[in-house]
Amino acid sequence: MSSHRRLWQIHPPEKTRNARLPRVLVIGAGMAGLVAARILHDSGFPVIVLEARNRPGGRIWTDTSTGIPCDLGATWIHGLKNNPLKLWCDRIGVRYAIWPRRDPLFYEHKRIVGAFNQLLIELGQKAFKGSIKALGIIARLHGRHLIGLNGDTPLSTIFAQIQRGNNLPEHLRRFIYWCKGIVEAIEGGPLQNISLREWNPLEYCQKSAIIPQGMSILIDDALNDLQIEYNQVVKRIFYGSGGVRVETNKETWEGEVALITVPLGVLQRHTITFDPPLPMEKIKAIETIGYGNGFVLDKIVIRFQKRFWTQNGDRMGWLPDCEANRGKFSFWIDHDPAGIEPVLGGYASSDWAARADVEKSDDEMCHASWETLNEMFGPGVPKPENYVISRWLQDPYARGAYSYGSLKSTKHHREILAEPVINRLYFAGEACHPTHYGTVHGALETGEKAAQKIHNDFCGCNTVIATMPWHM
Ligand SMILES: Cc1cc2nc3c(=O)[nH]c(=O)nc-3n(C[C@H](O)[C@H](O)[C@H](O)COP(=O)(O)OP(=O)(O)OC[C@H]3O[C@@H](n4cnc5c(N)ncnc54)[C@H](O)[C@@H]3O)c2cc1C
Repeated sequence: MSSHRRLWQIHPPEKTRNARLPRVLVIGAGMAGLVAARILHDSGFPVIVLEARNRPGGRIWTDTSTGIPCDLGATWIHGLKNNPLKLWCDRIGVRYAIWPRRDPLFYEHKRIVGAFNQLLIELGQKAFKGSIKALGIIARLHGRHLIGLNGDTPLSTIFAQIQRGNNLPEHLRRFIYWCKGIVEAIEGGPLQNISLREWNPLEYCQKSAIIPQGMSILIDDALNDLQIEYNQVVKRIFYGSGGVRVETNKETWEGEVALITVPLGVLQRHTITFDPPLPMEKIKAIETIGYGNGFVLDKIVIRFQKRFWTQNGDRMGWLPDCEANRGKFSFWIDHDPAGIEPVLGGYASSDWAARADVEKSDDEMCHASWETLNEMFGPGVPKPENYVISRWLQDPYARGAYSYGSLKSTKHHREILAEPVINRLYFAGEACHPTHYGTVHGALETGEKAAQKIHNDFCGCNTVIATMPWHM
């Protein structure tokens, strides 16, 4: 990685050398907060970042306790075309690998049951009528929108059509459970709450990449010499024409502007009090956009003594035995495509994961994942050597995985969420992005946009440049 100090500027500093730029308090050191903080700082604004955890990155969290870097939060750069994360990696010389390379393979008792595309084609043939009906529902809904009509339906409707009245063979019934679990994991919510109107299955076909060193390498690059105050849990924010005052569990901070980048789930829990209260329209947006609601995506990373699987660097699936187990570690990735390190990552999703996140101990979670591996590769899968687990739902600074398009939310709600309040409070974070919500690049873009808004409102310097690594 290139180490020379680059400035991320939106205006040349000589233009504002004598101007008094406002002090910005950035709340949250995730991707959105750090990007905004770094741009404002490098453009001459005094900036302090207040972060509740003892580490930066938020929902980007690369862990190395199993011997190699593994991400417990964001893992993939989704969609490489014009993705600022990819351009950033290119610019600073961070290596990424196009990944996945192949379809996921499904295993049972050491036997490959089939590959994803093969099972999908088989399902399309066996559940032909239901699949055509499901496609009809999608086409009608998008047709209505093209001519300006409203209307929506939950994503679960599609699966209900495919499942209805079919006497499917057992492996295909189980394949449907798996598909339901994986769609919930990707979208970030329960199928019955997810908007079909906002669903874009074409995104599933885009090329993605993984950073072998872990996603945190980008967080490290953003940090540079920012002033970050860790273990500062923001409790109360006072704002008015004179500026802002932010009270944390430890002390009080003053500034002219606050940029709030905490996850939507934190705002929904009202653990931060705004004084005066936020405008009604913003409160409505916070409540309407989907987040959590009995759902989470969690991950376990396990180190074994030796590798007992053969496909290097692949994704591997387990066809759940019943609908309720669709999120029970039914998706695994081999963390070492080189086929050397014995490290696997398993995903838990859906309501199974939401219950396990709060009810099961670490050992119970690990045992549940090991049970699944035994169904796939056993009997006799060795016991884990060590492991690490995420608990995004219990996490008071995340309260879930990421936001999703609910049946009641639209792009408009996300725009309202991102709107400043009397030019004192600014907002950024993945949930503020109108289309790329739930992603790291979406969070990055909202951070950049918020920095630009603050710059426009306070700087008075018209010359705008963009020296962020993804623009160079
Ligand atoms: C399991 C999982 C897998 C994912 N996989 C991918 C993926 O493969 N690709 C992808 O693009 N995206 C993925 N995502 C989503 C991605 O991680 C997020 O969209 C993105 O990181 C959000 O960045 P952010 O800055 O908006 O929020 P965050 O990263 O959550 O940052 C907000 C910060 O605010 C802090 N905070 C919270 N409350 C307070 C408080 N009261 N006071 C002070 N600070 C506070 C938090 O600690 C945090 O550091 C995944 C997420 C999860 C959970």
